[in-house]
Amino acid sequence: MPIDFTPLRKILKLEQEKGYSNGTVFGGLDKFLAKWAAQSEQYITNPVLLRRFKKLNSLDYSLLDKKQRRKQVENILAFVDDIEQQPIQKSKARPAPAKKAPVRKPKAAAITGDISLDSPITAIKGISSSLAARFGKLDVHTIRDLLYFFPNRHLDYSQLKTVSELTQGNEESIVANVWQVRETRMGARRSTEAIVGDETGNVRVVWFNNPYIVKQLSTNKKIVISGRLGIFKGLPVFESPEWESLEDRELTHTGRLVPVYPLTRGLYQRQVRNIMKGVIDSWSASLGEFLPSGIRQKCKLTGLSQAVSQAHFPDDEESKNKARVRLAFDELFLLQLGVLDRKYSFQQDQSASPLSADAPLLEKWFDSLPFTLTGAQNRVIKDILADIRKTTPMSRLLQGEVGSGKTAVAVTALLAAVASGYQGAFMAPTEILAGQHFASICRLLENAGQAEVKEEYLHSYSGLLPRPITIAMLIGDIKGKKKKELQQRIVDGEVDIIIGTHALIQKDVSFNRLGLVVVDEQHRFGVTQRSALRQKGLSPHVLVMTATPIPRTLALTLYGDLDLSVIDELPPGRQTIKTKWLKPTQRNSGYAFLRKQVAEGRQAFIICPLIEESEAIQARAAIAEFEHLSQQIFPDLKLELLHGRMSSKDKDGVMKSFRQRNCDILVSTPVVEVGIDIPNASVMLIESADRFGLSQLHQFRGRVGRGEEQSYCLLLAEHPSGLARQRLDIIEKTDDGFMLAEEDLKLRGPGEFFGTRQSGVPDLKMARISDIGLLERVRREAIELFEEDPGLKKTGHKPLLKELRRIWKTEGDELS
Ligand code: ADP
Ligand code: MG
Repeated sequence: MPIDFTPLRKILKLEQEKGYSNGTVFGGLDKFLAKWAAQSEQYITNPVLLRRFKKLNSLDYSLLDKKQRRKQVENILAFVDDIEQQPIQKSKARPAPAKKAPVRKPKAAAITGDISLDSPITAIKGISSSLAARFGKLDVHTIRDLLYFFPNRHLDYSQLKTVSELTQGNEESIVANVWQVRETRMGARRSTEAIVGDETGNVRVVWFNNPYIVKQLSTNKKIVISGRLGIFKGLPVFESPEWESLEDRELTHTGRLVPVYPLTRGLYQRQVRNIMKGVIDSWSASLGEFLPSGIRQKCKLTGLSQAVSQAHFPDDEESKNKARVRLAFDELFLLQLGVLDRKYSFQQDQSASPLSADAPLLEKWFDSLPFTLTGAQNRVIKDILADIRKTTPMSRLLQGEVGSGKTAVAVTALLAAVASGYQGAFMAPTEILAGQHFASICRLLENAGQAEVKEEYLHSYSGLLPRPITIAMLIGDIKGKKKKELQQRIVDGEVDIIIGTHALIQKDVSFNRLGLVVVDEQHRFGVTQRSALRQKGLSPHVLVMTATPIPRTLALTLYGDLDLSVIDELPPGRQTIKTKWLKPTQRNSGYAFLRKQVAEGRQAFIICPLIEESEAIQARAAIAEFEHLSQQIFPDLKLELLHGRMSSKDKDGVMKSFRQRNCDILVSTPVVEVGIDIPNASVMLIESADRFGLSQLHQFRGRVGRGEEQSYCLLLAEHPSGLARQRLDIIEKTDDGFMLAEEDLKLRGPGEFFGTRQSGVPDLKMARISDIGLLERVRREAIELFEEDPGLKKTGHKPLLKELRRIWKTEGDELS
């Protein structure tokens, strides 16, 4: 394949530099381009590229204005990039990967043939399996993982000074000659001391507790030193600075922007930095570019290899920022494409059963409700009923604050499914909540008619439809024969509405005619779980409900596959929950307040501290807290304990007792926070409130204030940091869920915010959600690309498709 693009590229770059004056080649660019086109045409076999090629050549450069010329040059360069990515020319046009992986030692070179980016890191010289295990703790397993193992931050050692310019107390960097070096004793510690200097003066350096450096330094060696300049006996001295010898190779630890990596036990900064420098030098060039060049140019993005290498060892602040933008773009772009693809295939390849409820049914149902629907509820119900009437499966995200009345909306949709002869499933994040939904939906249906059957996990009600509506709850507690029986009734179509947790979409549950799925509390349900349904061959309408107010841009990015409805109005008469952040010294007055409320006939929640490790540890902590509270603080009151390790039966028992007012204070782990509805509860006390996100605190707070009585939320924090204080101030003053969510996002990444790790959504390491401009740009580009080439089937998009599959961990030819 004899097309060599180098001259063409050179000419075009020159033309760009000269401001599109058409003076780059003698006789004008038209002639040059025509010649090039004539030579190349025969080699372009791909019909799409050929079409593009012809279009490009149909323009006369000399006749274009400056703006058009710029566009034309960009287009040709983009075309050249694309044509180079064609498999047939790959070996010629691009250097072979083996060449791109320079390995210093011949011994390692012998095995490069077998090493790829996806090889385990033990393939790298100097990484033993025990070292690899430590990296494993940081979720770094392959060479590619290492490339994407970004530093937390950089130390700015980039300003090299002379000895005479050094300022005491600052972090400084110098290049200096070693004049003297010796081992010294500082008390009992063996240390290294050196005198170094340049033409402007000398300075002392001490490495405390480290006699080994003596052997590495010798007189007249040139080294770079970066670190704090202290003072000792009136003279300046570098105290245990980073250093490296100047001859070695490019600077790694000194004299530049120096990366600071996250560590774990047994990993050391200097060691990790050395490893990373080697890996970046040898491997970053092997990362294949996957962004289409058109997008890269339009958005002025750094190339991938360059970006990865600059993210670790940047030349300067500017390249570091450019690298971050490129890598953040990738993350959001791939996220967005994956999400769009899901929407596309969800809606294109599948057809759902149209569901509808006739006017008399709706009227009867709305009349039976013990309240009048709010305007927002009505509007959202209209959206949903319009969606499910279609054969395109609905995928809608319903956002509404805690207490905004999402349940009634969901039940309306479920009724439409049942009225149309289909089943509806309602999935809750925990079994407690499933139980609560079961109870409250049963109550609503009973309002509208009459109970026919009332078995423990299965009720049926007449009144709304010509036949009774059967509703069942399927949870982990139901075992053996009983479970089989219930499952059989679901398969046989005897059950209309099935309520459970995500266990409902696990393998052993089959439906008869599943028409609609309602998913409560989206952030606990992942994208993967939604597609699990489809993999069972089911394409129901899906309604996802969340009480987490998600800022719109973010919602569109993370859940771009969903249409968005918002209940932005609370039912009338809802009270504001009075929130107070108590200083540690006010703990007792907090307890006294609880006691007073209980004396007035109210009930209270106490939420135990959030402990990261495990549910088991949380449970243990909650048990200890419960014992302390019931023995030391409230020995005269009735306390109950709720945690995630209890059996559902025990949990139910506790909830029942609390609901029936047999218990005054419910002590609970954060695991069981969501959705619990106890109107008589009027106080919530939250321990270690500084450990929770604002949105989460807001959710907790929504557990009270569901009845008539003025309700309160008390926050305790033992040693809040400055930042935590600010946040506690905010939650005390605002009850606007959206604002709280925005605040959360500013402080925590979106990944943390949504727990993307668990939800099957790719990790976001570089993207910041506060970067709205980038988010919007990414979304525009993704939509445009997707409209041009849904499924990314075009040849030029192959690398992108491959990357997308890798990131989303999907297999096969199709994206999802
Ligand atoms: P969400 O699930 O959105 O947090 P729920 O559906 O549980 O809220 O409703 C909270 C409470 O408000 C329930 O007790 C419910 O009966 C009541 N409710 C729902 N809609 C209305 C309304 N339009 N007017 C008055 N109360 C309502
Ligand atoms: Mg709810």
